[in-house]
Amino acid sequence: MVGINPFENAQQEIKRAVGHLGLHPAVYEILKQPMKVLTVIIPVEMDDGTIRVFTGYRAQHNGALGPAKGGVRFHPGVTMDEVKALAMWMTFKCAVVGLPYGGGKGGVVCNPRELSPGELERLSRGYVRAIAEIAGPEKDIPAPDVYTNPQIMAWMMDEFSRYRGHNEFGFITGKPLAVGGSAGRNEATARGCAIAIREAAKLQGVSLANAAVAVQGFGNAGGIVARLLHEMGCRIVAVVDSSGGAYNPAGMDPVKLREHKTRTGSVKGYPGSKPVSSAELLTMECDILVPAALENQITASVAGQVKAKIIAEAANGPTTPEGDRVLEQKGVFVIPDILASAGGVTVSYFEWVQNNMGYYWTEQEVNRRLEEIMVRGFHEVAAMRKRGRDVDMRQAAYMVAVQKVAEAMAVRGWLG
Ligand code: GLU
Repeated sequence: MVGINPFENAQQEIKRAVGHLGLHPAVYEILKQPMKVLTVIIPVEMDDGTIRVFTGYRAQHNGALGPAKGGVRFHPGVTMDEVKALAMWMTFKCAVVGLPYGGGKGGVVCNPRELSPGELERLSRGYVRAIAEIAGPEKDIPAPDVYTNPQIMAWMMDEFSRYRGHNEFGFITGKPLAVGGSAGRNEATARGCAIAIREAAKLQGVSLANAAVAVQGFGNAGGIVARLLHEMGCRIVAVVDSSGGAYNPAGMDPVKLREHKTRTGSVKGYPGSKPVSSAELLTMECDILVPAALENQITASVAGQVKAKIIAEAANGPTTPEGDRVLEQKGVFVIPDILASAGGVTVSYFEWVQNNMGYYWTEQEVNRRLEEIMVRGFHEVAAMRKRGRDVDMRQAAYMVAVQKVAEAMAVRGWLG
């Protein structure tokens, strides 16, 4: 399918923003690819004594605003192009909410569900040894992403600290609280997304009380967004994870859904619900749709059938450019990924700041600062959309972000 490569999708978005802003053509030439990409092989001793060799990547997209920042994904489908696209998106995600970072992303081709805890630890440590020379709190700061978690961050931090010969808590974010993690980090992606949805609902005149919500993905982003929206008065009518889904138009309690998933491994079979597929969920009758899983879910044909009034992209790149055009024509209000999912990296930034200071904030303080950054980011983009005539929220978000990166590159002398 045309445009299904996430790297090409990301390039198209930047090209449009550079065009809309009338910037120096060198801006696109610099931003259309990552500045550095490292491919590594990681030999790991398996529990049965054999050696398996894994492939990993780390991409650093642009350093004009600060050190590279972005998660590490453990997934069987990881490709270099995907990691490059995700690194690019991180540059703009950080810039749109004003964080002093460039974009980075890493990935390891593996299926963590098939690895024992010991194998997972050796793989995580091996990955860090392989990328150590290009990483560090002043160069490139990893974090969790799909199928990586605080325990993996703790192993990675420990390995990097051994490499440097002293504790380097600021090497990585999303750590457990016991080793320099930040209060509120776990919920931050979802909290940021819920704040953006609240602001969008106000702007669009959609009442959150009893609003029907469908969430694709029930991990750290989707599961917690469902809970926070439920607390705001919404009705969670459908959720799916990688094993199945649950649908109940009367609404479901996300806390109980989480308990069910912890007990059975999936949200499917939740008492009182009917099964629902991922494809059915995306096109069902609802007010708010939250894609919180992987890329390329809302294609042109899916977009044609979407009924939601607001889409909040908690995942990275869930809509293809073709899907996006269709949503735009239909007038669906999309809170783009680089804005809707910026809460996670925002609290990662707070975590890194706290590590650098050695002074830790309360959860209340973290949430207060997150709220401030998300509200400001949302309204900056909404104002750009209004000013830009004919641009949607995604283009407006890219315009805000690209403008900030371009300005930094210009004053640094990168544009001649
Ligand atoms: N992986 C998350 C994202 O895509 C978080 C990155 C970070 O905290 O650095 O935004």
